[in-house]
Amino acid sequence: FDDTKKGVVEFRNVSFKYPDADEEILKNISFTAKPGETTAFIGSTGSGKSTLINLIPRFFDATEGEIIVDGVNIKNVEQHELRKRIGYVPQKGILFTGTIASNLRYGNPDATDDEIRDAAEIAQAMEFISTKPDGFATEISQGGTNVSGGQKQRLSIARAIAKNPEIYIFDDSFSALDLKTDAALRKALKPKTKDATVLIVAQRISTILHAEQIIVLNEGEIVGKGTHKEL
Ligand code: ATP
Repeated sequence: FDDTKKGVVEFRNVSFKYPDADEEILKNISFTAKPGETTAFIGSTGSGKSTLINLIPRFFDATEGEIIVDGVNIKNVEQHELRKRIGYVPQKGILFTGTIASNLRYGNPDATDDEIRDAAEIAQAMEFISTKPDGFATEISQGGTNVSGGQKQRLSIARAIAKNPEIYIFDDSFSALDLKTDAALRKALKPKTKDATVLIVAQRISTILHAEQIIVLNEGEIVGKGTHKEL
């Protein structure tokens, strides 16, 4: 990895087909996401937003073109080295059996209690963690049935924050949150991610209004790129 390009994510003419599928889901995608900036992806259902960001942690590999992270082609990097740099929050929060604290430490086992608390606070999760008699030591039941969808989502976001990554990927991660929590979370997240590269798939326009770069996808192609004002 090239430290002078820390956090830079670049797509160069990337196309993608799911294995065994005929149809190209992404066509000739090129853009650069920079540290200190938010790059937001919008577009209708099925336009390929999730597929695009899933290529960054290498859940799948691009069929054509190159994806460059920190100056290197991610095809030539060990998955674990790549994923260490990325805080990825899927559409639906995922919890593991164990305590809330161990769930938040999942991506960063060395996170201190203060770091865990700070992450939970930013993710607006303290509000419900503090109402539990066991707080951070609360056991998550199998499948996470003792937490709501929105709480799960906030814990998933807190987990990514506790990792302190150089690249954050939020796949429509704020949609399970009410507007007030969404706004509070984004406000708290801003100082925390000020030097990081933030990639975000969003449905709500309020989530992406302040993005430095908005990328509009349609049927797997980029049909617009710019700030909210420009578009
Ligand atoms: P949404 O806003 O509904 O989440 P999206 O823009 O994120 O949509 P994708 O989820 O990337 O779109 O889906 C793009 C296309 O890829 C769709 O046609 C979808 O059916 C297809 N697709 C998604 N995942 C897979 C998969 N694992 N295997 C095959 N096809 C898939």
